[in-house]
Amino acid sequence: MSTATDLDAADPLAHFRERFVGAASDLVYFDGNSLGRPVAATAGRLGTFVEQEWGGRLIRGWDERWMDLPTTLGDDLARICLGAAAGQTAAGDSTTVWLYKLMRAAVDHVARTDPDRTEIVIDTDNFPTDRYVAEGIAAERGLSLRWIEVDTSAGVTPEQLREVVGERTALVVLNHVAYRSAWLADAPELTRIAHDAGALVLWDLCHSAGAVEVELDAWDVDLAVGCSYKYLNGGPGSPAFGYVAERLQDELTQPIQGWMGHADPFLMGPGYTPAAGIRRFISGTPPILGMVAMQAMLELVEQAGIEAIRAKSVALTSYAVELADAALPEVTLASPRDPARRGGHVTLHHDRMREVTARLWQRDVIPDYRDPGGLRIGLSPLSTSFDEVERGIAAVAEAMR
Ligand SMILES: *Cc1c(COP(=O)(O)O)cnc(C)c1O
Repeated sequence: MSTATDLDAADPLAHFRERFVGAASDLVYFDGNSLGRPVAATAGRLGTFVEQEWGGRLIRGWDERWMDLPTTLGDDLARICLGAAAGQTAAGDSTTVWLYKLMRAAVDHVARTDPDRTEIVIDTDNFPTDRYVAEGIAAERGLSLRWIEVDTSAGVTPEQLREVVGERTALVVLNHVAYRSAWLADAPELTRIAHDAGALVLWDLCHSAGAVEVELDAWDVDLAVGCSYKYLNGGPGSPAFGYVAERLQDELTQPIQGWMGHADPFLMGPGYTPAAGIRRFISGTPPILGMVAMQAMLELVEQAGIEAIRAKSVALTSYAVELADAALPEVTLASPRDPARRGGHVTLHHDRMREVTARLWQRDVIPDYRDPGGLRIGLSPLSTSFDEVERGIAAVAEAMR
């Protein structure tokens, strides 16, 4: 087995670590998949924004830059980490709100052309907010949910999806990387299966944006959403993003038609006319501060390149699995062993993991806990070193004893 020192010395992305707040301390951070560390440059950028742009330009800022920020930042996200051409992605809202807007738009669109398509297909281990929003929309529109039962240590397979989709399917809602197990879904194949059945597909990219390769255009994806506070280090509550394939934009009607999605917001006219293109999916005033906070990380992701980031992510999770196999014989791996099917975290299962997590937090080793018995080790590629992985797994072994 290579040592952490060797792995860090050979890591072409190792120098990025020093760009993050707190990375020089002894604290072991295993939760960058829930809340990424801040990029050190962000503090200065926010200060400059307050003093010069907000404080200096005042209301003129909207005309000069802020009105376009949801779509210019959306285009940056699309180019840097979504494999999508410009004009299809907008930043703003939360993932939950995007899920509501895009799921509603999708099922209403399908119902107009084919009223017999009354099912939303979703899996039992899909992230809770996705399931709850789907439940709400089903109740609102008289639809039903068709559940795929999944193994919580894995995720949705092509065989499972093939079995449930058909003439009644309106929409398939899936997570690209499962939040519990890190199962990396075969997105191009699952998208093809949904399309062959005549359904639309929505991918939730919260656990993949910034950590794994995504090719929304090449995969022919219809709709996608994701957040920016996990592997995109935008900070707590930073804005989410939504993607709508260009071919669908003029066909879909989103349910929260606010003034910022109007063709001419400052006309302030009597009725709603949607803007052309992706802007019609915006609702209200965009959260500019959160967008400014995300930019330094996006630049780092662009410099490093998503392919190199994914390669390091695979190396980090593989190293964590290797160490856990050796040091924690009583623990089972609740994530895929095959790195090609695994996203950016590793979940270790044992009945005592809830108390083990609490003990680790007191010692400045910060993983998180997910039922049932899962210790989740999130390894954010640009801010995590192999040495941190080694010290963290050793601390888990100690806490278990
Ligand atoms: C983190 C996460 C969310 C969070 O949704 P918010 O609206 O940002 O709270 C949604 N879906 C998935 C798959 C997630 O991992």
